[in-house]
Amino acid sequence: MYNMQISKKERYDIVVCGGGFSGFSAAYSAAREGARVLLVEKNGCLGGVGTAGLVNHMLGARLYDDGKIYQSIAGIYKTLEERMLLEKSAVDFRTVDLSLNPHGWYPSLGTGLVFDGEKMKLVLEAMLEEVGCKILYFTDVISAQCKDGNVSGIMVHNKSGTYIIEAKAFVDATGDADICRYCGCGFEKGDENGGMAAASLEMHVENVDAGILSKYMKDTEDFRFRKIIAQLKETGEWDFPYEIFISVKLCSEDTFMINTIRQVGIDGTDAESLSRGIIDGRRENYKLLEIMRKYFPGFSEARICRVAPVIGIRETVRIVGEYTLLVEDLVNGTEFSDTIAISSYGWDLPNPKKPSLQPFHDVKRRSPHTCIPYRCLVPRDAENIIAVGRCVSVEREVLGPVRVMAPCVAMGEAAGIAAVMAANDGISFKNINVDLLRNKLRGYGAMVDIGNIMEV
Ligand SMILES: Cc1cc2nc3c(=O)[nH]c(=O)nc-3n(C[C@H](O)[C@H](O)[C@H](O)COP(=O)(O)OP(=O)(O)OC[C@H]3O[C@@H](n4cnc5c(N)ncnc54)[C@H](O)[C@@H]3O)c2cc1C
Repeated sequence: MYNMQISKKERYDIVVCGGGFSGFSAAYSAAREGARVLLVEKNGCLGGVGTAGLVNHMLGARLYDDGKIYQSIAGIYKTLEERMLLEKSAVDFRTVDLSLNPHGWYPSLGTGLVFDGEKMKLVLEAMLEEVGCKILYFTDVISAQCKDGNVSGIMVHNKSGTYIIEAKAFVDATGDADICRYCGCGFEKGDENGGMAAASLEMHVENVDAGILSKYMKDTEDFRFRKIIAQLKETGEWDFPYEIFISVKLCSEDTFMINTIRQVGIDGTDAESLSRGIIDGRRENYKLLEIMRKYFPGFSEARICRVAPVIGIRETVRIVGEYTLLVEDLVNGTEFSDTIAISSYGWDLPNPKKPSLQPFHDVKRRSPHTCIPYRCLVPRDAENIIAVGRCVSVEREVLGPVRVMAPCVAMGEAAGIAAVMAANDGISFKNINVDLLRNKLRGYGAMVDIGNIMEV
């Protein structure tokens, strides 16, 4: 019998597991420092939820407040944005009329970066190749060799077989803290009952009449079709567990991302649950399309051009890190001596059972910017792994501002540099010189000081 367990062993300075925006950024940042870096990704593209998941709208870098726009994330995010604009593959927020913008309808959403998902995949690959980072696609990280919090290698599975890849330091950018969990690190999952925010299978529709849609929005201010949906609920035609319709105009005039369905009870760490989610989600999107065509102004001739091949997961586990970012920190606007990223996005983590309910929205006043300390990325129970993305160490309600894409890029940039510092000096992520890290980030144009937030 052919043995799929092969003896192949590879060795790098840094291995990044997961190629979403946080993994891409960590890999780019580490390779830019001159390290030998491998990025391992189970799909055949970079960008994760942002590309494979069809969520072509990066939020969290900018804040709209009383007619002014402030930018709190730059660095690699800015490079990427400029590159996409140069390629004419993104919408420049400066050209958008924020008072009535189809890129989310609310001014703050209009300041995000709407991008072409296919071009984004190409640009992300080009950027990694430019800094000499190797990409290994179609590869699942299935286990890790770990002793006393020190990881010597990860075990991967792909068409070549099952084998070990060694490195001096690892970045866990899997979204679900897979590597940290393989190593026995502490984590929390969902709320106190294990409930997690709903998942969403996204679709893109084309042939939308944006003019008719905009006119309806302008005349009625019924931005998310709440009024129409309330009527449809009364007649029994709307039997979904959510009450709002979320749409974002993409780069072409007639194409919209539909970020509407909310799938309650899906567990992103359970393969059967994910399978159920994608089967039900596909059916639900087609059902929603019928309703859109019948009742939603501008959508009467709409047709589906893409349904995401992966389900969008908002929440699973959060590591127990050296520091846990608290609700109190968001309310007080706490600044940290180890801040490595500043998000401009707000509370956004729906109730696990009521997907249109944002528990904190009208209840807790939040400071406009959220500082993310380096210690939230560092697992308490490991030495040479760092986590990035939506699985970092925060109180559940704090996930809103942290999990969106621009802060993911910013966290990745910090983690990549930190990984090189840890690998070069053979030290734990806990012991790196954070002042030096922050200085390096400043040197690359990243923003780590509240005082430097700019009006743009
Ligand atoms: C439905 C939905 C809508 C959203 N809307 C917005 C929005 O409008 N704007 C915004 O900014 N943010 C939005 N978010 C949040 C944001 O998209 C994500 O939180 C963010 O993209 C996460 O990036 P990431 O790199 O940390 O993780 P991911 O994008 O999840 O990337 C993780 C990557 O790791 C890979 N991977 C996972 N496990 C393994 C493994 N074991 N081995 C190998 N590879 C692995 C995955 O294939 C994936 O490519 C939304 C999220 C969802 C789910």
